[in-house]
Amino acid sequence: MKNTAALRANTGKSRLFALGGFLGFASMLLLAAQSAFAAGPEANEDSGVFEVEKVRDDVSVILGGNGNGGHAGVVEFDDGLVLIDSMMEASRDRLLNTLREISKKPVKALINTHDHPDHIGSDAYLQGQGALVVASSSAEFEDEFAWQGIGENGKLPQYGDSIALYVVGSHSPSDLFVFLPESNVLFVGDTLSNAWYPANFHRGIRGQVEAMDLALNLIDEQSVVVPGHGFLTDRQGVQAYRESCLAWSARIMQLHHQGLQLADIIKDPELEKIRWKFNPRLVDRDRFDHFHGRLVENTIKAETAAAEEG
Ligand SMILES: [Zn+2]
Repeated sequence: MKNTAALRANTGKSRLFALGGFLGFASMLLLAAQSAFAAGPEANEDSGVFEVEKVRDDVSVILGGNGNGGHAGVVEFDDGLVLIDSMMEASRDRLLNTLREISKKPVKALINTHDHPDHIGSDAYLQGQGALVVASSSAEFEDEFAWQGIGENGKLPQYGDSIALYVVGSHSPSDLFVFLPESNVLFVGDTLSNAWYPANFHRGIRGQVEAMDLALNLIDEQSVVVPGHGFLTDRQGVQAYRESCLAWSARIMQLHHQGLQLADIIKDPELEKIRWKFNPRLVDRDRFDHFHGRLVENTIKAETAAAEEG
């Protein structure tokens, strides 16, 4: 960032791949992330590196999926890299190999969008290598290591105006938005999904809408929005996702309050139309079908819990 020499060097070294196509994705469900994709032929274990989508001169996204965890953002500064999320623990070698292809600079800081295992797998390791690890102060880590908790919206002093952090609670209690105002890139973690069902397990639709409204306040038509899984998107994508979430929750809860059981709710033709809005590129249709009931059930639980909390 703000370092033209570094940017020139970076352009030559980066291994870039075509946009679009099937990216694969790891589910927000750890269960699925661990089992369904763990050993498929799509894992490309022989290649040793992940696909990288270059978003700006100094911002790249290492694409996760196929059991490797969520995407990881890489922001290049004069003195080193800032990583956003660190994938699954088992994917560490490929992550480190891919980082080296992007830049030889050290990872100076690692910011977590939330504390789920498919986003924090190399946190303790990188902290041991000298990186400052930053997460929402609501985060919980199994590993013991030093990290900096963020309790309210703000900036990291050492990065000036280049990084802004926002405390959010939608997908989990520990959601953090990472916004790069100078690059106009927003990392929203798993609060937005466009190749999977909405996973607003914390505070239900209310938390979801608040999160998307915050995102819409931060971004403009030129922004790039990076979800934890699925496809990089933009302001229009956030708006469409927000509307689909409202329709999804409203329809499920309407049927639930009418007394319908899960087996009947998932057969509802209107809900059938709504659910495909969350997977417009028809990623892994069989699996998407398979988890429909589970995600409807999760939505009912999340909405019921949120209503009880008032
Ligand atoms: Zn998650």
